[in-house]
Amino acid sequence: MCGIVGAVAQREVTGILLEGLKRLEYRGYDSAGLALLDADEQKLHQLRAVGKVKELVKSVSEHELRGSSGIAHTRWATHGEPSVRNAHPHLSGEDLALVHNGIIENYESLRKQLRADGYDFASDTDTEVVVHLIHQQMEQGNDLLAAVEASVARLEGAYGLCVISRREPERIVVARSGSPLVIGVGIGENFVASDTLALGQVTDRFIYLEEGDIAVVERDQIRIRHAGEDVERPVKQVSSDLVDADKGSYGHYMLKEIYEQSKALTDTLNGRISASHVLEEAFGVKSREIFDQVKRVHIVACGTSSHAGLIMKYWLENIARVTCQVDIASDYRYRNIIVEEGSLFVSISQSGETADTLAALRYAKKKDYVGYLAICNVATSSLVRESDFSLLTMAGREIGVASTKAFTTQLCALLLLAVVLGRRNGMSAEKESKVVQALHQLPELVERTLTLD
Ligand code: GLU
Repeated sequence: MCGIVGAVAQREVTGILLEGLKRLEYRGYDSAGLALLDADEQKLHQLRAVGKVKELVKSVSEHELRGSSGIAHTRWATHGEPSVRNAHPHLSGEDLALVHNGIIENYESLRKQLRADGYDFASDTDTEVVVHLIHQQMEQGNDLLAAVEASVARLEGAYGLCVISRREPERIVVARSGSPLVIGVGIGENFVASDTLALGQVTDRFIYLEEGDIAVVERDQIRIRHAGEDVERPVKQVSSDLVDADKGSYGHYMLKEIYEQSKALTDTLNGRISASHVLEEAFGVKSREIFDQVKRVHIVACGTSSHAGLIMKYWLENIARVTCQVDIASDYRYRNIIVEEGSLFVSISQSGETADTLAALRYAKKKDYVGYLAICNVATSSLVRESDFSLLTMAGREIGVASTKAFTTQLCALLLLAVVLGRRNGMSAEKESKVVQALHQLPELVERTLTLD
């Protein structure tokens, strides 16, 4: 899943969109594009380029594109090769443009129906069905909001999406399900993005959309809808160090983050261990009751986080004598899982928005686990909000795609969990004390190791 930026303002927004895309480059992508509406000209302009955002920047300046509202995207292809025709935004007719992060699982059947209704497809993406569905709804007399509401009701899968229409030029409609979206609040102008980082240049005030939210973002107002009703969501001030992607004197973010491990580990252990034991309350108020029922642990995660889970399996066996099973979330969510009595569900994710891990949690919640614990780096994430309780890793923002400090802090959090469960399973105070003392030494050892570079 890649990047989305949108803006609706009185001023020219092309530069804001392109800067936003640059700030999201760290996520990796294969192509980029934007669509702009100029209120005066009443024309929808679309430009796309394969490769780096700078290719798009070049193309934008060659075409002298301008606009006071627009949407932009960096794509990580899931359906259809990286190419200009598959890059976002996708259009339907001459009026409507859409960008999408995520995967539409039922796109084949929707495409079949839309083809039968006379729609031609210009790309191989799953995304294009969405823009045609919205177009179809508007042709039936719906306004943009109603058309988006009716269309997303037909989607299966994960999406963060933004749409603009020439018929309603001073508005962006966005929808979120399984893929994050935030609204950046300005003065007389508003913004949207898949990550606050993209908008650090224009605002520090954000509304985090919740799962299932649809919003209409205009220059002077923001309307948020959920399950057909208007809802209020709080505006949060996000400090500039959280939106700042400056890599300082390091050559690249991953290197910077490797060197941040010692601090990240200290922050993750802070307030969670005494001199000789783990402070169980760190897991939250509901945790004790749940831990008392745990007989086995089921870890579900993706990628690097699942590797942390595999290490945890050894720890649970060796130091806690607790059975542990580790599953990749993208397998788990499609299986007919058998949950043994006394199983604790543990999800691990840096962002807390990993689509498969979230889907796995939602699937698991229909089963009979004794509780749902998230090990996660983002306090406001969907995974944390939807779990019974969580232990946050305090790694700070991790920009490098190859995980470093997020991984080491996950291990640290998992070790605390191993001790808390081991304690209930005959782990001696002496053994606990040994583990905890080693944890106290860990940040310093990491620091010393890094000086060997
Ligand atoms: N599934 C869409 C595509 O392949 C969106 C991918 C993305 O999130 O960038 O175009």
